[in-house]
Amino acid sequence: MTDQAGKAAATERAGSRLYGLQIETRSRVEFKDITDQIQKLIEKSGVSSGQCHVFVPHTSAAILINENYDPGLRKDIDDFLKKLAPAGDAYQHDDGNCDAHLKAILIGPSKTLLIDGGRLVLGQWQGVHFCEFDGPRRRDVKVKIVAD
Ligand code: ZN
Repeated sequence: MTDQAGKAAATERAGSRLYGLQIETRSRVEFKDITDQIQKLIEKSGVSSGQCHVFVPHTSAAILINENYDPGLRKDIDDFLKKLAPAGDAYQHDDGNCDAHLKAILIGPSKTLLIDGGRLVLGQWQGVHFCEFDGPRRRDVKVKIVAD
């Protein structure tokens, strides 16, 4: 990992920890697999059973959970979202990134995952992706890890 190797900072509270990941994106639309970075935070937290909330404090980025095996799927998701929210349509929001806002709304700014045995509970083909819709930019991801 190079640029996506986020620096983590933690705020500790009883039974829970809040971490921040910094992510740099390189193109306007990008899907970055951040599963390993989140797993490392869980290990750092020492929580073996609980919940993990992943949230992006941005209006043109999102968190997606889906297959992380075939990179072709990322292109298909991009193409699908472009059909729903084409760039350059006549939008009321005229700062040039309305399509990015609409895509972020469709995918959503947060996901909650389960932690069991010190590991994220994910299906064999599932991964957590940071979705950039108006890059390149430097982005933040908040990860709240809560013990049972
Ligand atoms: Zn805007």
